[in-house]
Amino acid sequence: MSLQETFGSLVFNDAVMRQRLPRETYRILHRTIAEGRTLNAEVASVVANTMKDWAIEKGATHYTHWFQPMTGITAEKHDSFLSPIEGGGAIMEFSGKELVRGESDASSFPNGGLRSTFEARGYTAWDPTSYAFIKGNTLCIPTAFCGYGGQALDKKTPLLRSMQALNHHAKRILRLFGHQDIKKVTATVGPEQEYFLIDRDLYEKRKDLIYTGRTLFGARPPKGQELDDHYFGNLKPRVAAFMREVDEELWKLGVSAKTEHNEAAPCQHELAPIFTTANIATDHNQLTMEVMKRVAPKHGFACLLHEKPFAGVNGSGKHNNWSMSTDTGMNLLEPGETPAENAQFLLFLVAVIKAVDLHQDLLRISIASAGNDHRLGAHEAPPAIISIFLGDELMAILEALENHNAYVAGERMEMNIGVKTLPKIPKDTTDRNRTSPLAFTGNKFEFRMPGSAMSISEANVVINTIVADVLAEFADMLEKASDIRAAVEQIVVDTIANHKRILFDGNNYSEAWKEEAARRGLLNLPSTPDALPYYIHPKNIALFERQRVYTSEEMHSRYEILLENYCKVISIEAHTMLDIVNKEIIPAIIRYSRQISEAALAKRAFLPDVELPCEEKLVKQLSLLLSGISEKTEALQESVQALDAAWPPLDQARHCRDSIFQAMQALRSLVDEAEMIVEESVWPFPGYGALLTTK
Ligand code: ADP
Ligand code: MG
Repeated sequence: MSLQETFGSLVFNDAVMRQRLPRETYRILHRTIAEGRTLNAEVASVVANTMKDWAIEKGATHYTHWFQPMTGITAEKHDSFLSPIEGGGAIMEFSGKELVRGESDASSFPNGGLRSTFEARGYTAWDPTSYAFIKGNTLCIPTAFCGYGGQALDKKTPLLRSMQALNHHAKRILRLFGHQDIKKVTATVGPEQEYFLIDRDLYEKRKDLIYTGRTLFGARPPKGQELDDHYFGNLKPRVAAFMREVDEELWKLGVSAKTEHNEAAPCQHELAPIFTTANIATDHNQLTMEVMKRVAPKHGFACLLHEKPFAGVNGSGKHNNWSMSTDTGMNLLEPGETPAENAQFLLFLVAVIKAVDLHQDLLRISIASAGNDHRLGAHEAPPAIISIFLGDELMAILEALENHNAYVAGERMEMNIGVKTLPKIPKDTTDRNRTSPLAFTGNKFEFRMPGSAMSISEANVVINTIVADVLAEFADMLEKASDIRAAVEQIVVDTIANHKRILFDGNNYSEAWKEEAARRGLLNLPSTPDALPYYIHPKNIALFERQRVYTSEEMHSRYEILLENYCKVISIEAHTMLDIVNKEIIPAIIRYSRQISEAALAKRAFLPDVELPCEEKLVKQLSLLLSGISEKTEALQESVQALDAAWPPLDQARHCRDSIFQAMQALRSLVDEAEMIVEESVWPFPGYGALLTTK
């Protein structure tokens, strides 16, 4: 099959719908999708039938409502198309009702207390803005997952709601700029996905990787990423074969995987798709992670999506490129050509600036997880302080506007927005600041803080909502203004003056920035337990309620789930560590000491007068380490036991961070010391050197 035939061949997309649906049904469905309306039952029934026939032709026997519960991964409940009929036999059936709405037992998915107040049942509802696709023998229908009272129990529902809010308020602004023809504004997202590929057989030997996704032990190898010889280096043939297969699988699913290259760390790679709407991009990113994990073993690899699989080696993130575009094809963050376009661009730009400054806490929370905490601020990823990078040109323009100064490409000129054209803003290539958490990159913002393993839903829920909220405020003001041009200018100038503290073009990894950020009054929330309490701050609840993205109740439930997840991750890591130390590491050290002691005894029997400085030193060293390890293991054990006594959940999370995690670090450092002196063949599992070399 040619690439053109392959691409989207397993997707019930617009082209398939146009070809297969009766013209009237297609027209209604298309409008429903384009304008974000609800689907009527008659149309659903025709669509369901057509979708079923198409899926069966492609070899599907089952269907599933594919959804994204709060676990961060996707869930499926498979049902067969087969319905028994009277007198034996069966027909293939799939009704409109089954397409639009499925039922599911919600009680085993995280719901943060919503379960106790509501029924355990949940339902799933087709999101017609995301196309159905076939995976294996199953037709997957992307759906939202809600409780019976309509409470969102998943990551798709709030994302769709936030897109609606953004659509609504962005359109209000656009109407003021004379765009009566625009029917829809959509958040667009292109998430770049980083990951590690390591040898499968080595992976299988490490319980820490298997159970927790990261190495809980590991001494520094003689060669790490010091030489920077991996970045954009040649691809190994086995890696190239893996990438080719991932691409092909993704293309069939309509995911436009585009670029692949090596990343900074050894064995680290990146995949970037071509951007699409925020909800499809989120679905596609979930599929991408799934496909990578599934394809890796076929090439003898394990794919690690954890944010920090190896200490001392760069971790993995997900760069969330975000913008807004209209159904008429206008990118709202594209600097314009005409004065009116410039005014509009600047208004959207300062809306983002204001939104980010006002809601630093929410952006930080949107990417908070135990895994991502290892990465943020570790001189490889932005710190836990939110700021925006605009680049020299744009900074100079904003400064000039604020001071009513003349600026155009170095020449003094009268500058008002809406009067003069702006100087060309170069699509940055060289001067891009790679240390910034949120960089304007020519016609979009690149949010670099999301972790590699997490769903990008929450980050986009937050960006969409906070920008929508500021646009709403701007629209309220402008709709009342008598002189729109003057009012836009006033808003732009005031916003720059009031929110410029969030703009920072320097090195975000430096210590100096931490001090400067503190002087500017910016939030610095290094750990998840530092950040999460802000989630249920009255400002944030009011914001999400105002934009109808979350109810207060949903936010409280999410807050609990986030805390619970954080504690679960650390607790699983601690238990895994105890298991490995007790069953593998302590026995290995004892075995090795015994080997040396026995060898020394034999030597002494053979040469009674010989000195044994090396053997003695080693055995002593091992013995010291062993007692240290044993002590630290006990301390960790006690700390883990004390978790049950900690309450409420925020105290549990703090206990995980301040006691359990510290105890884990203390234990790890002794084990890593031991790894440096124990013979390789005795050490129970492969070390960093082997793990980080692909043959
Ligand atoms: P890089 O950041 O590596 O230089 P690009 O700028 O080409 O690469 O794009 C990075 C990602 O940003 C890609 O996934 C791309 O599709 C996405 N992207 C480009 N334009 C937009 C946009 N308007 N909205 C959202 N994402 C976009
Ligand atoms: Mg990029």
